Amino acid sequence: MDYLTLAEAYEKIEATRSRLEMADLLVELLRQVPVDEVEMVILLTQGKLAPDFKGVEMGIAEKLALKAIYEATRVNETEIQKLWLRDGDLGNVAFEAVSRKKQTSLFTEHLSVKMVFRNLEQIAGSSGAGSQDMKLKLLAKMMHDSSPVEAKYIARTLAGKLRLGIADMTLIDALAIAYASKEERDAIERAYNTCSDLARVATILAGDGLGGLENIKLEVGIPLRAMLAERLPGIPEILEKLGGKCAFEYKYDGLRIQAHIRKDKIQLFTRQLEDVTGQFPDLVEILGKSFKGKAAVLEGECVPVDINTGEMLPFQTVSKRRGRKYELTSAVTEYPVMLYLFDCLYLEGGDLTQTPYTNRRKMLKKCIKETERVKLAEVLITDDAEEAEEYFRKVIGKGGEGIMAKSLAPDSYYRAGSRGWNWIKFKRDYKSEMNDTVDLVVVGAFSGKGRRAGNYGALLMATYNPERGIFETVTKLGSGFDDAMLALLPELLDTHKTDKVHRLVDSKMQADYWFEPSVVLEVKGAEITLSPIHTCGWELVRKNSGLAIRFPRYTGKVRQDKPAEEATSTDEMLAMYEMQAK
Ligand code: ATP
Repeated sequence: MDYLTLAEAYEKIEATRSRLEMADLLVELLRQVPVDEVEMVILLTQGKLAPDFKGVEMGIAEKLALKAIYEATRVNETEIQKLWLRDGDLGNVAFEAVSRKKQTSLFTEHLSVKMVFRNLEQIAGSSGAGSQDMKLKLLAKMMHDSSPVEAKYIARTLAGKLRLGIADMTLIDALAIAYASKEERDAIERAYNTCSDLARVATILAGDGLGGLENIKLEVGIPLRAMLAERLPGIPEILEKLGGKCAFEYKYDGLRIQAHIRKDKIQLFTRQLEDVTGQFPDLVEILGKSFKGKAAVLEGECVPVDINTGEMLPFQTVSKRRGRKYELTSAVTEYPVMLYLFDCLYLEGGDLTQTPYTNRRKMLKKCIKETERVKLAEVLITDDAEEAEEYFRKVIGKGGEGIMAKSLAPDSYYRAGSRGWNWIKFKRDYKSEMNDTVDLVVVGAFSGKGRRAGNYGALLMATYNPERGIFETVTKLGSGFDDAMLALLPELLDTHKTDKVHRLVDSKMQADYWFEPSVVLEVKGAEITLSPIHTCGWELVRKNSGLAIRFPRYTGKVRQDKPAEEATSTDEMLAMYEMQAK
């Protein structure tokens, strides 16, 4: 397939904000793709070269990219620099430069999807001596052979900023319509939740149809998408929802880890399926010593501990370990961690996700020898609300953030990739006025005044509405930032700047700056109110009103582990509003 077909489809997708229309455009595109190119098309559309857990980094030094654009087009270098400074979007620079290209050479080659994909792979995969030169040549050649639209999307993909705004769920809708039927979308989503690789699911679907998906099985080494919890405001409500009796587990506040264990290899993935094995060599070692079997997939929370007292430390301490490549040895001794295991999804060749919680817990107990550093999550099974309340108080007393209630029903399966009532979280904050902290996405900002002059003064925050595929504003956040965080804001936000409100953002407010929805911050508010200026859950409660958070405060946590689409959803806000009203 021609890369031009793909680039033109991207152009149309970018012009719409309707999830339905996006899905239709994708269907139209997918129907033209030969089976052996489906994988590449899906990956390119996601702006990737491999599924996330493989850790293939896209990205190119901007200087090199600008040089390649110059070599390909011979548009004056200062002009190119000017274009770059205008909005910092390599795609727009490439588009303009290729449009203004001086001479059209006779020796241009038609770009195919295959060719572009292979070239991008080569560029991303090369390092060391001579690699810069090779990258420059490959990119310049592609730019030379590109039309303006092609150049735009190649440059954006390479910069790791494709920004098409297609949520996974929209892509799944499109796959269902293109290769099966709307009614079969759940089966496709299940396959995706099991292998976390939409390109693989799409290829099987396009080649072998729905039946082929049965071959997608849980495998050690391939992470599955994490199961998530619902929330309720009180223990009696939780017991009622879970049939009168359930397991209450200690809710640890750390980093969720999915451990894939084989005899000769242990791999650790985060909730975002990022492979963090390299950052936790100590965890690999202690887990290796505790595990008594041959192969397993286990889930738990990695918690930092004080070396002197053995007490659990705040979650932020773990993040000091992340992203440190060079100081790993000192980090391992300075910030030691423990692992509290709470689930067993696979053991010795058997997929346990479709067996009930009690059975999975039994298997977990069987395969793990508890040590100082590896333990099973604490649990209390009861039907007595009083006893559970007391347990909750005990957890809080020890500095824990709450409890996780887990269903004991025969169908209390591990539902990968979905938020369901088999797990219900109950946190300390639920007892205060606004239930729980929320994770909101920065979509805009206002210029600072007084001490904050010259910097951002307040941020415009949004929830995500997956039904619309749109971010809806919910509050203006100005407090809770210390000087260090204020100074860090430009670094955190500026690479996401857009020149107007992002097309996936619904805002009635006029901000001074706009951002692509990307950075997620944890926020604690006092109360949820109705507001005529915020678009979150617009008119779901009352005409001409949305939901808004009063007196929001930044808690100090940047949720680097959450992509924007996993921020607090509009539905969750609505549920919290209703809970509060009760
Ligand atoms: P969510 O994961 O629901 O989107 P979140 O990331 O803000 O929300 P919390 O609301 O704090 O997280 O609660 C869920 C997280 O709690 C899990 O993802 C897991 O990392 C952690 N956790 C701690 N202890 C347990 C436990 N015993 N069982 C399950 N999860 C636990």
